[in-house]
Amino acid sequence: MDGASKDVMRFERESVQRAAVGFPLPNGARVEIPVIRVFGQSPQPRVVIVAGVHGDELVGPHALVELAQELTPSELRGTVVLAPSANPLAFAAGRRTAPQDNLDLNRILPGKRGGTATERTANFLVNQVLGAADLVIDLHSAGREGTLVPLSGFREAHDDCARQSALAAAAFGLEYYWMMRWSPGTLSTWANQQGIPAVGCEVGGRGTATREQIDLYKAGLRRCLRHAGVLDPPLAVAMPPKVWTQEHLTAPCGGLLEVLVELGQEVATGETLAHVRDLWGNVCAEITAPHPGKIMHTRVQQSVAAGENVFWLGREEDNPCYMSL
Ligand SMILES: [Zn+2]
Repeated sequence: MDGASKDVMRFERESVQRAAVGFPLPNGARVEIPVIRVFGQSPQPRVVIVAGVHGDELVGPHALVELAQELTPSELRGTVVLAPSANPLAFAAGRRTAPQDNLDLNRILPGKRGGTATERTANFLVNQVLGAADLVIDLHSAGREGTLVPLSGFREAHDDCARQSALAAAAFGLEYYWMMRWSPGTLSTWANQQGIPAVGCEVGGRGTATREQIDLYKAGLRRCLRHAGVLDPPLAVAMPPKVWTQEHLTAPCGGLLEVLVELGQEVATGETLAHVRDLWGNVCAEITAPHPGKIMHTRVQQSVAAGENVFWLGREEDNPCYMSL
């Protein structure tokens, strides 16, 4: 459990190792995380791919269990580590967070040894799954209550690690090239803080995973592995000049939600995007676009509480990594 480089499974050329690795909860019960290591010709480069950090986001877990069965050791130059269900307590509950403590795993990394259930999960991931990675990829979706356009992204920063992350995200190549704000406690920011390039992705939601969405993730992962030098043929990518960023639009009051726009739709400043009605039918809030942009996330659950997220409004801006080249 100590040290970022300690490994529960040792490198063995051209082999696949599957193991449930785990840790005890405060009450002594054991949590086990399924980890698949596909070893190729050499230990490095080592790409670690994580899904299920939020337990109700299912495109990533489906993509990873399939990819784990499809990758063959003889086609790999390095090592691919896959963790399809990184937060088993949240997955078991069918929720974003584990009911034991309701902490968001993607806000508290590196967690705490001897902490609450989610703090221990975070600490275990950091020490036993993510350690010694040359690239980390984190697959998400919207939760049950919403859905997202396909986004492959990197964290905003101004160093070489950010540039490498930005290139890997470009190799992943989903429809929207995305720049996430720097956010300590998240998996990708934690990785960058260790000097490990990281890609974060989003596709779909609603507690579902369509064949098309699973295939989008698998194809993006293969491109990323080619870019990382793990799979052939090599893939060189150019730094995109523009990125998408998002602003969260929340409901000012709770009630019945009527969404008036579609995912991916272009909207103008001042355009009405949704109404919230109280249970007498009166409109208590109108959500409008503060600037022109595209709907990157929309709530699908047709009720909302005050302060809850209804849309991500995306806009394109200059890519700082491109500007600093
Ligand atoms: Zn998520």
